[in-house]
Amino acid sequence: MADESANAGAPLEAKSPYELRVNLGSGVPETDVRSALASGDMGFLHSFTTGSAVDGPGVRVVAWTTGCAWRCRYCHNPDTWTVTNGLPVSVAKATEELKKYQKGLKVMGGGFTLSGGEPLMQHRFAAKLLGAAKAAGIHTVIETNGYYGDRLSDAELDTIDLVMLGVKTWTPERHKDLTGVDIEPTLAFARRLAARKQPIWVRFVLVPGLTDAPDNLAGIAEFAAGLGNVQRVEVLPFHQLGEFKWARLGLDYTLHDAAAPTVEEAERACEAFRARGLVAY
Ligand code: SF4
Repeated sequence: MADESANAGAPLEAKSPYELRVNLGSGVPETDVRSALASGDMGFLHSFTTGSAVDGPGVRVVAWTTGCAWRCRYCHNPDTWTVTNGLPVSVAKATEELKKYQKGLKVMGGGFTLSGGEPLMQHRFAAKLLGAAKAAGIHTVIETNGYYGDRLSDAELDTIDLVMLGVKTWTPERHKDLTGVDIEPTLAFARRLAARKQPIWVRFVLVPGLTDAPDNLAGIAEFAAGLGNVQRVEVLPFHQLGEFKWARLGLDYTLHDAAAPTVEEAERACEAFRARGLVAY
């Protein structure tokens, strides 16, 4: 079993997920990483952050997992791609950390959000941590690309109050170009949540020249509106805050020249969603 004292020097709490963190779990032998992932008693976290107002309802404590098999061209946290860049943390320790904020979160109408990376890369750990949070009476959110949604049972989904689902772009070709993977598993997970009447907030990153084509917006809007369980669409303006991480990690970044959308462009995108009857910000 992975030893969570292996990197006892690195603090779990970070000021923001934009802190570059690498190799925090690199001292953990590969077999221990594998058994940790299989049991879910131990997970790997980039960090814990507190006081977030943008990762679900109210004020949130967010645990950022490591591990993601996607390669989104605009990813602002590529240091989360590698599982062992995270700090090994037991479910018990993460739950204890979370419970420190239990009362405050309730007062502020907030809760716990599990984000990443892609949290379902560590689906056993994700299920256990979300289950523990829910059992403690804390509102739970998972922020996911949905690709591994079928790894969670219905009973595990029952412990999640809200799914924040990243829908990156529309059409299989564009999706492959932007993320490196197929769009269908994400859509299948969205349909499964719809059948369960489980609430979704769709998260969509608006990148001028890459994701803002009218037919792209219309495609996502049409799909989301048809589900019937999408409570809101969050249009997230692209930014370059993660650019330095790509450089530091020696990765090939293709969006150096991409600009953040203007207020008008963001509003136009919201309008495309509202035109299909969705609530969009
Ligand atoms: S799914 Fe999220 S963490 Fe993974 S590459 Fe895309 S933006 Fe980054």
